[in-house]
Amino acid sequence: MVEENHPQRIDREGGVQEHKSPSLQMEVRDPVIIRDKDEMRQWSRYMRAQGKTIGLVPTMGYLHEGHLSLLREVHKHTHLTVVSIYVNPGQFSPSEDLSTYPSDIHGDINKLKSVPGGVDVVFNPHNLYDYGNSSGEREREVKREKEGGGLVSCLEERGLGHETWVRVVRLEKGMCGNSRPVFFRGVATVVAKLFNIVEPDVAMFGKKDYQQWRIIRRMVRDLDFSIKVIGSEIVRDDDGLALSSRNVHLSPEDRAKALSINQSLFKAKYAAEKGQTSCRELKSSVIQAIQEAGGRIDYAEIVDQENLEPMEEIKGGVVFCVAAWFGKVRLIDNMEINV
Ligand code: AMP
Repeated sequence: MVEENHPQRIDREGGVQEHKSPSLQMEVRDPVIIRDKDEMRQWSRYMRAQGKTIGLVPTMGYLHEGHLSLLREVHKHTHLTVVSIYVNPGQFSPSEDLSTYPSDIHGDINKLKSVPGGVDVVFNPHNLYDYGNSSGEREREVKREKEGGGLVSCLEERGLGHETWVRVVRLEKGMCGNSRPVFFRGVATVVAKLFNIVEPDVAMFGKKDYQQWRIIRRMVRDLDFSIKVIGSEIVRDDDGLALSSRNVHLSPEDRAKALSINQSLFKAKYAAEKGQTSCRELKSSVIQAIQEAGGRIDYAEIVDQENLEPMEEIKGGVVFCVAAWFGKVRLIDNMEINV
């Protein structure tokens, strides 16, 4: 279903750009950059009315080969592709790294252009939660929530009056949900917003964020979004470290130490395939390897691939998920084990 060149494209103002000549079609195409959500929806509806299918790759930018692999994958499924680049304040708590999250929009666009088939639209909204009606009421509410120990994200701190959240109540608990209490409601909410704005046929997520991928699939099923969600395999550096935008903050020493995550996970997978079935023993070997390297464990869990329930014995399809700190950087990784 791949179609590398499209007869018509819509520019930022929503007008239609015609491809000028066959030679132009051979060149690397500049994506249309859309910053306004109404314009984004207008583009999508126009294209869908022409019979085109649309694939969406949601990202927070500072793109690397992991993100580009999602774009390559989505090309196999739809005529047109949209990559969203938006650092979502709703999924960060005030103590997390929103302000230092790396960004490089021009570099990102060049990387997207380097992928064969490119990308049709980069959706790069300024603020998805600005409804033009900010008032002091929300700030007062946040203060009350904080005093009452409720969940508060960077979004609420900004007092923009957003108060609707999507919660995937069971899957959001455990693993990343324990140490990042606002994270998954923020992710599910922004993804639901992106789905409503872009109206894609297919959305692509990385299995690097395994719990997130399962949560989005469940949200799509439970809320009847007419969108096919596809999970794509983890892309790793040559030495095995899972690619992540946050890797840029690792010192060379911490980066070397962080290899203990993927190396111990690979060893655990090998041991499980050779017949080691005790999850307790597999977990303790991974925890030990990471701690000996100087990492601080957030969690190491072996869970069922579908429902993310913790397992005691390896049987069927499980996934070994780890989060650990190296210096000030929290890294996550996982390994599917099928025995
Ligand atoms: P992020 O920009 O970190 O929010 O990631 C955007 C998407 O890229 C998510 O679906 C991630 O799971 C996916 N992703 C990030 N890193 C990788 C990787 N190393 N391999 C595959 N997918 C990834």
